[in-house]
Amino acid sequence: MPPLILSTWSFGPVANNPAWEAMSRGGSALDAVIIGATAVENDPTINSVGIGGLPDASGRVSLDGCVMENPDRAGSVACLRRFANPCAIARRVMERTIHVMLVGEDADRFAEREGFAPIGEKGLLTDYARAEWEKWINDPRHVDREKYRGWIPPLNVEEKARSGPNQSHDTVCVLGIDGAGRLAGACSTSGMAFKVPGRVGDSPIIGHGLYVDQEAGAAAATGNGELVMGTCGSFLAVELMRLGATPIEAVSEALTRITKRFKLGPDHQVAMIALARPAKPGEQWGGWASAAIRPGYSHTITDAAGTRVEPAQRVLMP
Ligand code: ASP
Repeated sequence: MPPLILSTWSFGPVANNPAWEAMSRGGSALDAVIIGATAVENDPTINSVGIGGLPDASGRVSLDGCVMENPDRAGSVACLRRFANPCAIARRVMERTIHVMLVGEDADRFAEREGFAPIGEKGLLTDYARAEWEKWINDPRHVDREKYRGWIPPLNVEEKARSGPNQSHDTVCVLGIDGAGRLAGACSTSGMAFKVPGRVGDSPIIGHGLYVDQEAGAAAATGNGELVMGTCGSFLAVELMRLGATPIEAVSEALTRITKRFKLGPDHQVAMIALARPAKPGEQWGGWASAAIRPGYSHTITDAAGTRVEPAQRVLMP
């Protein structure tokens, strides 16, 4: 029952606890989800979001994020390199401009003009993240040359036989419904580890990593962004709820679409969370859901009964 905060992965309590606290103090769902995402972005021990995120193939960190309340209330930034908090900056894009999305150096400049404190490229890249990148770039066994075509010099045949996938990606998506029955979502990531520089995944793209419509519901995705982008994953889940699907039916169908339309490799994983639209007077709220293509994914849920980290309610390929 609302109020409630639902986020991706087992680091969810880092997001949910301050988000819940903000909502308990009367903050809106939008305030809460941004406070939650910001807490994860500021935690240098989480190496897939914000400070401490693993860098791209060139060794530089870039951050993506978005926020949404409704089709006419969305903001996004991609490829930030000097600021740690894409979701808070995305909110400013939504509230202070007529646009939805800013990217690259101009997004960094916008953040600067808006008074955010730059942490700088060096501040985003922790010693741990730099060491992981150095291991990756120096060890051909860990470099999937096919994936980084054009960025990494081609391997000889012997090296190719030894090479293996080495992916790391875990976006924080935070969905909330507040006491007034209003939905909001935030999504933040450093993207796929060692990505081709300039690559932007699903997370900051409205309708892919996150979609919220007060009339239909909210959904968010984590995992291989390219799979989500090919299916407009979050938009699809919300549209299914608009047509009457329950949250678990909606996310299961959106994930099934991925399994049907892509040839999945053993490393491919996508997980989704969803909240039903606010209840109308006299109606019972439609609830929430969490599902994944493969095992190994957890969500974090916080409501009046406290915060719990739990495995997905449904795994498509157990
Ligand atoms: N979806 C993110 C991306 O592809 C990464 C993740 O969620 O793990 O950039």
